[in-house]
This record gives sequence, C-alpha cells and structure tokens, in this order.
Amino acid sequence: MEQRARVEITEAQRIVVKVGTSTLTHQNGKMNLARMDRLALAISELMNGDREVILVSSGAIGVGMGKFNLTRRPLGMGMKQALAAVGQCELMNIYSRLFATYNHTVAQILLTKTDVDDDLRRKNVMNTFKSLMEFGVLPIVNENDSVSVDEIKSMMMFGDNDTLSAVVAKLVSADLLIILSDIDGLYDSNPKENKESKLISVVERLDDSIRECAGGAGTKRGTGGMVTKLHAAEIATKAGVNMIIANGSDPMILLDILEGKDIGTLFIRQ
Ligand code: GLU
Repeated sequence: MEQRARVEITEAQRIVVKVGTSTLTHQNGKMNLARMDRLALAISELMNGDREVILVSSGAIGVGMGKFNLTRRPLGMGMKQALAAVGQCELMNIYSRLFATYNHTVAQILLTKTDVDDDLRRKNVMNTFKSLMEFGVLPIVNENDSVSVDEIKSMMMFGDNDTLSAVVAKLVSADLLIILSDIDGLYDSNPKENKESKLISVVERLDDSIRECAGGAGTKRGTGGMVTKLHAAEIATKAGVNMIIANGSDPMILLDILEGKDIGTLFIRQ
C-alpha cells in the first residue's frame, strides 16, 4: 500500500499545497520573506516540471496583525475581518512579485463554505480553477475572511485552512495534498511535552488510535494544530487524495517529497 502511494506521489500531476501562518510569518507577525521566496521557488520548479499546483495560503490575519503591530489575534469578528482584508492585499502583493521573478503568474481565489456547498457556485469555482490551470496560472486560495459573519459562522465558514485545503483538493480532484506546517508531521504524542515521542511516517487507516495522537495545539498567530490536520486528512483520503504533513521551515522540501522520499507523515488515500 505504501509502495503504491509513494509511486503515486512521484507521478502526481495536480498538487494542492497548504501553508500556514506560522510558516509564512516571523513571531512578530512580519512576513518571513526568505521563506516565502523559497516557497515561490519550489512551487515554480514544480510548475516548470509540468505539474499543476494550487496554493492554499493562510496569513491574511497574521500579516494584517504584523502591519498594525498586534501580537495577539483579536477576538472581535469585525477587527479580524479588517485585518484579513488588509493582510490579504499585502500577502498577494508579495506572492505576485515573488512568483513573477520566477516567471509565473498568480491569481487570488477567496472562498466561503457556501461557494462549495451550492451546486451552481461550486461549478463556477471549479471552472475558474480549470481555466487558470489551463493558462498555467497559480491559483492562491484563502478563506474569504472579510465576508464571513460570526452569527452564521459554522454555516458559512470552513473555519481553518487545513480543512479548506482538503475541500479544494477534493474539488479539483487533486492527486496529492501537502500541508506544510511548523512541525515535522504527526507524532504519537505531543513532541512539545514528551521528548520520547516518535514521528508516525505512514497512516494507512485514520482510526481512533491515530486521533488520540493529535493534541489541540496551535500558535498565537495561526489557527491550526493537529486536530484540523487530521480532519483534513479524513476529507482528503476519503476523496481518494493522498496527503502529506511536512515541515515547511524550508519549502524546498516540496521537491524532495515529489521525489518520493519518506518525509513527514503520509496519509494514504482510501
Ligand atoms: N484564513 C485565515 C488567514 O488567512 C487563516 C485560517 C487558518 O490559518 O486556518 O489568516
């Protein structure tokens, strides 16, 4: 099973890559430009090798916080929406410039849950992805934080970009979803608390014993943690998409993953 999945990974044509806020920003909330540049380089290389890539990028709220020198995520929805609106602009501006240096064009797609739940809207979104990829453009996706309203939150929002990335992977029938995080993968216990904890390299079946390995952790700037990543793995693998969680501290790791190297945690598709 693992052998087959490794071969599928090296042959993956359509890849969704997700990066979180903690990968894209420094602890003070400012953008980690060196890392974003390496990300742009790695993804450009994949695209130059005729692979189709979709980037799901967090960071709107985090970058907005950095812009206003806030060190904690605000609790009020209005404030979060305003920060997301400011931060998303900054983020796309930088992505657009970085990818341009490697001769690639980017496009912004902001989604809410209603866009994929509704048949007509979903079809429209799928068509947009298809056309962009035909043009060789890199779609950069984020949740449309500035239109999501608190009262109807659970109905309208994905809530986190791990889930969003899996939904997108399913929507575009991706061959592979790679979630880049600030941790090497899924451990059998929380590595921040237990020095003996071991990295799980392959998950063939996502059962309760695996769910028990995930704590609720996340950072002050992001929202993720292992729980949302396992949720994403559930959606992706059920939709027939292999998924890998790996450390994004050097995004060039993407190229090693696509060479079939045993990196991070691989969740094998069902
Ligand atoms: N959409 C949020 C942002 O761009 C991030 C959500 C997440 O990190 O899961 O700040």
